[in-house]
Amino acid sequence: MLDAGIAARPVALSRARAIERSATPAATSAAAYPAADSAPDAGPNAGPNAMGAALGLLGDEWSLLIIRHAFIGARRFVDFKQRLAISDAVLSARLAALVDGGVLRRVPSPVAGRHEYALTRSGLDLWQLLLAIWAWEQEHVEGQAGRLPHMLHATCGQRFRPLLRCSACSTPASVDDVDATFGPSGTFARSLPAGSNRRRPSGARSATAEGPDMFPETMAIIGSRWSSATVGAAFMGATRFGEFERLLGAPPTVVSDRLRSFVDLGVLEHVRDPEGPDRSSYRLSAKGRALFGVVATLLSWGERWLRADDGPAVVAVHRACGHGFRPELACSACRQTLQRDDVTID
Ligand SMILES: [Zn+2]
Ligand SMILES: [Zn+2]
Repeated sequence: MLDAGIAARPVALSRARAIERSATPAATSAAAYPAADSAPDAGPNAGPNAMGAALGLLGDEWSLLIIRHAFIGARRFVDFKQRLAISDAVLSARLAALVDGGVLRRVPSPVAGRHEYALTRSGLDLWQLLLAIWAWEQEHVEGQAGRLPHMLHATCGQRFRPLLRCSACSTPASVDDVDATFGPSGTFARSLPAGSNRRRPSGARSATAEGPDMFPETMAIIGSRWSSATVGAAFMGATRFGEFERLLGAPPTVVSDRLRSFVDLGVLEHVRDPEGPDRSSYRLSAKGRALFGVVATLLSWGERWLRADDGPAVVAVHRACGHGFRPELACSACRQTLQRDDVTID
């Protein structure tokens, strides 16, 4: 359960609240952090790093849907309730978790004695991740192009899709253009979401409310511990069954189950080797590689708001310009860098 996961990570959550109180994003310079070998609390017992904390908080479809609706005007409990096909208990738990995680805050309601929910600065900063998820689902998931709303760039007045670029040099960037290594807090174990927020069955959807399958394949990928770990391992270069098994530290049945489901989703390709099954490999397909936008914006947000005390989880360098890679999104129509307030739903 997500809530169990939240309770299991007091370090990350107190950090999120502390950051929110200071209302300033975490420093972004890796140089401000000690090296891994000098960090006092680095080690197998240290808490989740920025990736693990971000996945623990956001690797849940209800949470992402609540955030999405907060962006488009939902504030009261009843607003979320009406827009989402969600039970009171689940909605209460998710809202509480998002408040604990520093993404939402409770604000007084005009109705005496009541409160509403508003996005915090870190919550508002999730717009890039939501846009990256929307773009990937729109482009790569069957049936989503006709179902998801279009996005409008207010600055140029045109419909667009977001282009992922390096914020230092404004050049488009894909997974092939970025060298990523683990940072001071970067172990694979600490990059996993704390707890195992199991994906729930979709349930019935009404005509006016969104069920929990708005981003079906994104949630199949980041919505559970082993799934996000599998895709993380693939992005780290794992291709052989044994490499996935070693990185995940999971039983072979779990590993083969996840690999098979990612092959079914078209995110991984199973490349068979005629010399024997031991030599076959699993490689990211074009669809899988396009997930880089989601992975990069999620990690970048995590490093800004939930960074571990001993430094970044991942140090990424844009090969073309040599600067630390921080993603920005640009409008495909006018090529200007997108700003949060310039993006609307058409
Ligand atoms: Zn660059
Ligand atoms: Zn534009």
